[in-house]
Amino acid sequence: MTIKKILVANRGEIACRVMRSCRDVGIATVAVYSEADSAALHVDMADDAVWIGPPPARESYLDIGKIIDAAKATGADAIHPGYGFLSENEDFAEAIAKAGLIFIGPPVAAIRAMGGKSEAKALMEKAGVPLVPGYHGDNQDEKFLAAEAQKIGYPLLIKASAGGGGKGMRVVEKPGDFAEALGAARREAKAAFGDDHVLIEKYLTRPRHVEIQVFADRAGNTVYLFERDCSIQRRHQKVIEEAPAPGLAPETRAKMGAAAVAAAKAIGYEGAGTVEFLLDTDGSFYFMEMNTRLQVEHPVTEMITGLDLVALQISVAEGQDLPFTQDDLAINGHAIEVRLYAEDPANNFLPGAGQIQYLSFPLQRDAVRVDTGVREAPFGDGDVISIHYDPMIAKIIVHGADRAQAIERLSAALADTHVAGPKTNLNFLRAIAAHPAFAAADLDTRFIERHADVLLPAQKPRLDNATLALAALGVLHLRAEAETAGIKPAADPTSPWQHRGGWRIGGADTETLVFNDGTSDCSVKLSCKDGLDSPVLSLPDGSLIAARFAPAAEDMGFYALLEDEEFHAVALRDGNRLTVMHTGVGAEMVWHDPLNAEFAQEDTAGRLTAPMPGKVVAVRVQLGDAVKKGQPLVIVEAMKMEHTIVAPVDGKVTAINANIGEQVDEKRELIALE
Ligand code: ADP
Repeated sequence: MTIKKILVANRGEIACRVMRSCRDVGIATVAVYSEADSAALHVDMADDAVWIGPPPARESYLDIGKIIDAAKATGADAIHPGYGFLSENEDFAEAIAKAGLIFIGPPVAAIRAMGGKSEAKALMEKAGVPLVPGYHGDNQDEKFLAAEAQKIGYPLLIKASAGGGGKGMRVVEKPGDFAEALGAARREAKAAFGDDHVLIEKYLTRPRHVEIQVFADRAGNTVYLFERDCSIQRRHQKVIEEAPAPGLAPETRAKMGAAAVAAAKAIGYEGAGTVEFLLDTDGSFYFMEMNTRLQVEHPVTEMITGLDLVALQISVAEGQDLPFTQDDLAINGHAIEVRLYAEDPANNFLPGAGQIQYLSFPLQRDAVRVDTGVREAPFGDGDVISIHYDPMIAKIIVHGADRAQAIERLSAALADTHVAGPKTNLNFLRAIAAHPAFAAADLDTRFIERHADVLLPAQKPRLDNATLALAALGVLHLRAEAETAGIKPAADPTSPWQHRGGWRIGGADTETLVFNDGTSDCSVKLSCKDGLDSPVLSLPDGSLIAARFAPAAEDMGFYALLEDEEFHAVALRDGNRLTVMHTGVGAEMVWHDPLNAEFAQEDTAGRLTAPMPGKVVAVRVQLGDAVKKGQPLVIVEAMKMEHTIVAPVDGKVTAINANIGEQVDEKRELIALE
């Protein structure tokens, strides 16, 4: 049977990705959207769109009934779940079948078989797939588990059987820590998945995460589309993925591929799936889990195989056979994907939210692909990264003839990527791409931890001369833009009314601008004797730079000449925060604007504010308590994670402005210390 119209039960980058393939193969699409997404890109891309409820996912994207009603109402004959949300939910797949629609995914029984990590491990054991040594049985008695732990040996890992996204996982280093870690893993699992069943396994100290993409059709033809190395992770979640896995021996690849195919066959798999393994330093590999859906990182596989995996999913769902066999498949070159997130690497990767004020991506050519669900909105009307959903902004994927070329292209692509608004991990991604250990493919799942000193500098780097100079020009540019906003340009180019700035005859022609880069003040002296568009800049290290600048026609930025080096830069202002972006650099600083008292830097010492909008789940102190530096004060839950606000210094609690269960806004002062 042929599919004519697909409802995509997802949002953002995911929904856009699926719709692109539907368009390519001539299938109409239906978007569903929550109230937070009424102006979202995925809604614009679809042929039809159905509103399914308020922003919280539980009341919209996770509401099976509403999604099926939307499919029926719009005459869709199939539903693609994307990844995340309901993509691995067997009740959803079942409800779709009951409604007489096609689920673009595996059979319900296959989802169920791999649904729990414990059950999946038991099944794989039977199929002869190697497992990490551990206990994954039903007995959940604490004493029993502690005895099993002793048998397995330390360090070990406690995992929520229902887990995903690194939640409900605890590494335990020594027997004395077991009971507490077990309690914490259970609580987190209960809260996140409503199920506190755990398994324990040996914790490998230097593993790589290598996963195999499998594909199967209804006739039982099952192949593997090689592997992806996803070792670069933070909080046990992937940040960078690549294909093929660097240095993987062809025999190991063949063995892992065969094990993955065996796993898929053991559960009667259909469509796209991923079998995740840990690869140990000695080349042995162990089954971790199978994801019964398309993965976020599937584009790297597409790049090295030349296949469109979504189109392939659709044709398999239509009942067609795979158009190739294992022998037809080969690896072409090397591909790398990075995930650009709204998050703060310097603050334990705290997810961010907020309006995107500026967004620009590298040009997409054959070797560079950008998958995103938010829009480039250069004039301030940007999409919002909502606290209700995953904070991913985009995936940037590059291809090269070999790994070295792919890395070169990755660095170039990241240099051409700019975001202003929410904090992002962009500079962090740039640092990884430039790291010698990454170039040397010295990978394992603790890569980020091991290189944290370089990747996550505790002190922000001081502003380099070019960035400081461009910040100063940026201020002049922003002033000029503000002054001419709404003023029609004079017809006569020599008219004094063409002047776009605050410069006056007889007025001061020098000015000092002060920027703080987070560690110290840097002042730039401007001398504008030759006109406002060609100042001479005097920088803190004593250098003098002759500059010229002019507004860019194509965006809100400007072109600048610093001595004889040319730059294209964008400056954005939000209160007293100035963001300057130019080639490969996105720098944020505080600008002390003496004319703008409203934005004068406030004294934040001794105040403890919510790091992001969220719900207060615990208040650990009482009024008048004496607290020690580092002591937990308040716990706020946001984006499904708990954030602990600790005392920055020793002190006494003088005010508490947080009640358990209360929803608080970002920057709300929760505790005051004296
Ligand atoms: P989730 O489903 O929550 O993503 P996984 O079981 O897929 O959890 O594991 C996520 C990551 O945790 C892996 O990619 C790996 O980095 C790490 N990990 C999992 N199991 C082990 C283990 N036994 N030893 C060391 N690291 C592990």
